[in-house]
Amino acid sequence: AHSMLFVNNLAHNGNAEQKQRILPKVCSGEWVGAMAMSEPDAGTDVLGLKTSAARDEHGNWVLNGRKMWITNGVVDEDGEPADVVIVYARTGEKENGRPELSTFLVEKGFSGYSVGQKIIDKTGMRSSNTAELVFDNCIIPSSNLIGNLGESITHMMKNLEIERLTLAAMSLGIARRSVEEMNRYASERQSFGKDIRSFGQIQKHIGDSWAKYRAIRSYTYDTAHSMNLGGGNQRLDSDGIKLFASTAAKEIADSAIQVMGGYGYVAEYVVERLWRDSKLLEIGGGTIESHQKNITRDLEKNPQAILD
Ligand SMILES: Cc1cc2nc3c(=O)[nH]c(=O)nc-3n(C[C@H](O)[C@H](O)[C@H](O)COP(=O)(O)OP(=O)(O)OC[C@H]3O[C@@H](n4cnc5c(N)ncnc54)[C@H](O)[C@@H]3O)c2cc1C
Repeated sequence: AHSMLFVNNLAHNGNAEQKQRILPKVCSGEWVGAMAMSEPDAGTDVLGLKTSAARDEHGNWVLNGRKMWITNGVVDEDGEPADVVIVYARTGEKENGRPELSTFLVEKGFSGYSVGQKIIDKTGMRSSNTAELVFDNCIIPSSNLIGNLGESITHMMKNLEIERLTLAAMSLGIARRSVEEMNRYASERQSFGKDIRSFGQIQKHIGDSWAKYRAIRSYTYDTAHSMNLGGGNQRLDSDGIKLFASTAAKEIADSAIQVMGGYGYVAEYVVERLWRDSKLLEIGGGTIESHQKNITRDLEKNPQAILD
């Protein structure tokens, strides 16, 4: 979230002053960044977000609303907020009746910016902090508008492409470790006087997992190789790889648990954590259903992509 959703986003969409002032701090780790798009009542339906910003008489922006599920929204157990957050908000309505969404930089210490709650008891990814953020008449100087008014959709879409590829790479790591663990265990564990790897049903778990792992790897590397960072219009493969990798990695982690029997179900043997972590990747950064929707829409517009 820090490097892809904040740093990469600002590097591609911010102006020279914003980059000069903030990038050194977030690159050195002095500041922790976050990106706040999702809300309690709007996730997949981004245009349904309600957080709004309006200008006051001094030319500042006044931000009101709540953001939900924000990675790095808190940075510790005491509820310390992120140092800087990219926030998407409504600033009006376009001629076609759609909301005008604009992008703002909110910094720790701005009046009206606070943490609503730290989200606890997540299924997985527990070493990553998640929080609800509250903006209550939060005052933002006009210099903290990123890009021009109404440009959020472009910022979001460009940034979601690299986010989805990065999340696919996480799935790839989960898949690799799961295959490694189940393969090792299958030689260590004996049943009916034989290594369990001699049983056909165990071989199905290992063989299928290997093939899926290699397919995730190839598609991830292929997408990374062809991706133009910050370029946009590469959604087919950023959605495609995240759709495939997230579910395949979850299935591989599930196979690892199954191969390891009862031991696979407890924390000491790692694979149950990999399964729990893998589940988030079917939801965060866009749900698998949203990827299916996007891919089908994009292939209608560009069927040539199938042949390229
Ligand atoms: C641990 C964690 C960290 C996160 N970090 C961040 C972050 O840093 N920043 C941020 O902005 N967000 C973050 N998110 C939010 C995440 O991006 C959203 O959860 C995700 O986009 C889904 O939104 P939702 O939860 O509101 O589900 P909803 O959009 O309400 O979806 C619910 C279900 O309906 C389905 N659905 C919705 N619309 C359609 C449709 N048109 N067609 C078919 N099915 C549909 C969905 O696929 C899903 O199955 C995080 C979430 C989690 C859990």
